[in-house]
Order: sequence, then structure tokens, then C-alpha cells
Amino acid sequence: NPYRRAQFLTSANAPQHLPPDEGFEVAFAGRSNAGKSSALNVITDQKGLARISKTPGRTQLINLFEIDAERRLVDLPGYGYAKVPEAVKRHWQQFLERYLRERQCLTGLILLVDVRHPLKEFDRQMLAWCAASGMPTHVLLTKADKLKRGPAASTLQQVRRTLDAEYPGATVQLFSALKRQGVDEVREVLDRWMKL
Ligand code: GDP
Repeated sequence: NPYRRAQFLTSANAPQHLPPDEGFEVAFAGRSNAGKSSALNVITDQKGLARISKTPGRTQLINLFEIDAERRLVDLPGYGYAKVPEAVKRHWQQFLERYLRERQCLTGLILLVDVRHPLKEFDRQMLAWCAASGMPTHVLLTKADKLKRGPAASTLQQVRRTLDAEYPGATVQLFSALKRQGVDEVREVLDRWMKL
């Protein structure tokens, strides 16, 4: 598992603080509380990795984790209902949009969505942007352990149908950090995107 080597590299709140635009980056996005930190911890087999992104002052930054000299995982700020001043929000939204639009080495986006609350407005915004810009996108329906097998499977089917109809090309899977469900599946997507 190459993701085990992931190490905190840097935080950025402006383009000039990002590392050189080279190699491969995969970004993780999701509404606050979607389970992004837990997923990053499980994928990298490191309990405390994403805790860094949760330390006060870093939650509105893009946090980068290096796998090797050419490959990085990128934790995007959780969007949703952050209690921050409007001006601050505007600043990081602009930076985020710019990062997504301009970053050449960004090869794909993992969108984390709570399986019990699929495709809220923010998720749809993200998917629409990805579809418009041809960005490969993979949705993790997180906390799958919170639903029984039947309802989880039908949510998966329903989301897959919506993606096929409205955001073609995007893929989706069930995921549980708690049960370590779907970890190999998402790692395979990362491998493909990062040419590992
Ligand atoms: P983030 O805000 O997106 O980084 O979300 P966190 O990873 O911090 O998770 C938010 C909450 O959901 C925490 O209370 C986690 O313990 C819980 N959580 C995350 N992943 C899972 C999961 O796979 N199963 C269950 N049952 N709870 C989870």
C-alpha cells in the first residue's frame, strides 16, 4: 500500500503556497462531517494523518500529503456550514475554485457523501463542475455501515443512476471507514489516476 507512505507536506491558503504544479494530485472533497478525515486515515493506514487537517486554523486550508516525490493526496476544506466570516469564506471559496480550475497536476477528485444524505446541493455543484471540466470523479458513499445491506445497495443503485443521467463518467461505491469496507476499491481508483 503506497498510501501508507503519505506524509503531511504543507498547507496552503493561496496559490503561491502550493508546491510546484507537477506530478499527480488527487483531491478529496466533501461537506463537513461527511467522513473525509476518517476515509483518509483508513486509505493511508495512518490513524492521525487527517487530524492535521482538523487542527484549528487548518480547517480552511488546502492540506497536502505527499506519497512520493510525484504524488500527493489533497484534503480540500470541508464545505457546508462552516461558521466563518463571509469575507473569509469568499476568500477560500475563490482559492478552492481556482485550485480546481487551474491545477494542472490534479488528476481526479474523490467526493465524499454520507450514504444517508446523498447528493446535496454542494455535492451537485462539485459534480457539475467536475463534469464541465472533464475531471475524473469518484463518489464514496460513506458510513455505509449505518444502513442495512439492502438500503445501502439501493442507495448505491439510485446514486449510480443519477450520476449516469446527469454527471456521466462519475463512478460511485459504498465505503465504511469503521468496517474498512471499500478500501481496496478506492485505492484501485487512486492507483489508476496516479499511475501507480
Ligand atoms: P469529516 O468532517 O468529513 O472529516 O468527517 P470525520 O471523518 O471527522 O467524521 C465525522 C463523524 O462521522 C465522526 O463522528 C466519525 O466518527 C463518523 N464517521 C466517519 N466515518 C464513519 C464510518 O465509516 N462509519 C460510522 N458509523 N461513522 C463514521
